[in-house]
Amino acid sequence: MKKKQILIADFHQETNSFCPVTSDIDLFSAGFFFEGKQLLNAISRQRSVLNGLATAINEAGGVVIPSVAMRASRSGGPVKHEVVNLFIEKVNRYLNENQIDGVFLSLHGATQSTEENDVCGYICETIRERIGQNKVIAVGCDLHANVTHRQLRSVDVVCGYQTYPHCDYFQTGHRAGSIGMRILSGEKIAVAYVTIPMIVPATGYNTNEGSFRELIQRANAAVQENTLIDYSIFQMQPWLDVNPAGSTVIAIAKDGTTAKHYAESFAKEQFDHRDKYWPDLRDVGEIIVLAEANKSEKPIVLVDAADSAGSGSYGDSVAVLSEILKRNSPVRAASVVCDPEAVRQAFRTGVGNKGSFCFGAKYSTGSQEPICTEAIVRSLHDGQFQREGITGRGTKHNMGKCAVISFGNIDVLLCSIASGSGDTQLYRHFGIEPLFYQLIVVKANTSFRAAYSSIAKDIFIADTPGPSSSKLLELPFRNIPAVFYPFDPLHEYVVEGAQVIGQ
Ligand SMILES: [Zn+2]
Repeated sequence: MKKKQILIADFHQETNSFCPVTSDIDLFSAGFFFEGKQLLNAISRQRSVLNGLATAINEAGGVVIPSVAMRASRSGGPVKHEVVNLFIEKVNRYLNENQIDGVFLSLHGATQSTEENDVCGYICETIRERIGQNKVIAVGCDLHANVTHRQLRSVDVVCGYQTYPHCDYFQTGHRAGSIGMRILSGEKIAVAYVTIPMIVPATGYNTNEGSFRELIQRANAAVQENTLIDYSIFQMQPWLDVNPAGSTVIAIAKDGTTAKHYAESFAKEQFDHRDKYWPDLRDVGEIIVLAEANKSEKPIVLVDAADSAGSGSYGDSVAVLSEILKRNSPVRAASVVCDPEAVRQAFRTGVGNKGSFCFGAKYSTGSQEPICTEAIVRSLHDGQFQREGITGRGTKHNMGKCAVISFGNIDVLLCSIASGSGDTQLYRHFGIEPLFYQLIVVKANTSFRAAYSSIAKDIFIADTPGPSSSKLLELPFRNIPAVFYPFDPLHEYVVEGAQVIGQ
């Protein structure tokens, strides 16, 4: 029998609708941008979704046809639509040159462009129209994807990460790829889904503790006892001000009745627990006081999620540093601040020399003022680092040119491109060892827990300003559907019945 030929492609960008800076092609060039055979080489040692898809295709005896991968180096404002069309043009070129039986995609899933609210729905729909109904489309995406009806109508299967912090990129691709290959071999598989009109802040839940963990454990048990083939419980990225929108729950089984039952049951539990997925926000000053008294050899982690580049913020907030200076606090602290102009100044000043710096708060943090101070330039860097793990070990990051400057008891990593990574290498690589500080500022939502949980004395989510604030009710949402939690408490809302893909 002729081997099944599967085209693989990857488009990744996580959009924050409130970030004023649109994401252009440069962010993709600085991220991960490969085509054809070079793409296969590039993913061969990665534990990525795309490698998971490719591995599943190979294991099922199929042939992988690499096309294009375009991954933005960081989250940000809406993508310029021409970048989305460039991706589709490139995929189309590979489709023209090859006979294929399916297209397996790695997508972030929460992407908005300057012209399109539902980029992933648009990509799936466009590819479906191009290849026709009798080929298989399988998708692996982020737990924070906005998985819309339009996308689900265009594909055969979608699998999302089952962990947050995300530790299962490869496994997610492998799940989607394996199910895609089973569908291609003629197996009958039912994919049922329910979309709930809700978002909650990404700092408010994770899969290691609390109610979200309980739900994930229940779903895992159903897979382990072979009742379900697979499941995905999405929590839509909460800074996406778009319509259509929602948190989708997917259950996959051999028959439609079982798939529907579980999709509805998981969706109901997720919706019923909506008030439990919120963080306990702490005052910055209160955390600084606790850190001043921190005599342990472990840092207090102050989570500045409102300025997380992983959620599309610019990464230039100095809210915490300003509070330390305002209080004249002796706390030994470190923070990262994105400010390309200040980096250039540090390069001009040179290592070991003193300069007058005004840095931070220049792009996206509202009423904040930059910090102006004399500081010593400690070191200069090209900004390339690799994650040490637990999530994404070996994944490369590019923060552009970077400089470490010091004043008082404070060390600041100035970067040219903020990184959303919550990995400890974001500091360690630049000579800032988190264990040597009483307070370390981490600009991430939950990803950092994988790396920091074991080395932190305490972790506090701070009440800080920024485009990825957990205070969703204070953000300028305009486009999200009218009936939507938390803007409406939805006391009377009843979770809809599940739909089955292809029926
Ligand atoms: Zn995510």
